[in-house]
Amino acid sequence: MRTEKDFFGNIMEFDCMGCYIGSHKLIPYGGYLYEDDLVTITMDPQIPIVGFTILGVKKHVKSINDFTEDERKNIIDVLNLTIENMKKANICEEVLIIQEERSSHFHVWIVPIHKWMEKFDKSVTRINEIIDYSYTIFDDNMKKEYDDAIEKLKKEFNNN
Ligand SMILES: [Zn+2]
Repeated sequence: MRTEKDFFGNIMEFDCMGCYIGSHKLIPYGGYLYEDDLVTITMDPQIPIVGFTILGVKKHVKSINDFTEDERKNIIDVLNLTIENMKKANICEEVLIIQEERSSHFHVWIVPIHKWMEKFDKSVTRINEIIDYSYTIFDDNMKKEYDDAIEKLKKEFNNN
């Protein structure tokens, strides 16, 4: 069992974070924005970027290659819907999508590109700098924006 804190200081305990989120044993801040038999959409629990969304799956596999054709279609459809909703909610105009097979449980980072990322070329090659910087600018105003983004996104998902 691992114990970590989320960005807001809440204790998270899990063996596999992906399995725990998928089975509701660990509910990330903001709850579930979308959920079906395979896929969950939640906020990233540890990186305070407004609208930073995680596509998770309820199956403990590590690669896109490990899903059936129907599952892959499901994943891409939800990924598409999520990005559309992020744009409709005016969270961003573009996203970065990151998936690392070195992680034992498949998940996709959907990072909205914000204006403040311009100084990092809005580029995946500088994602560590972007993440580090996000901690330094997270204040009460940003927290409000963060919470607003969750509500706006939930509204968009409810409209679909
Ligand atoms: Zn897992």
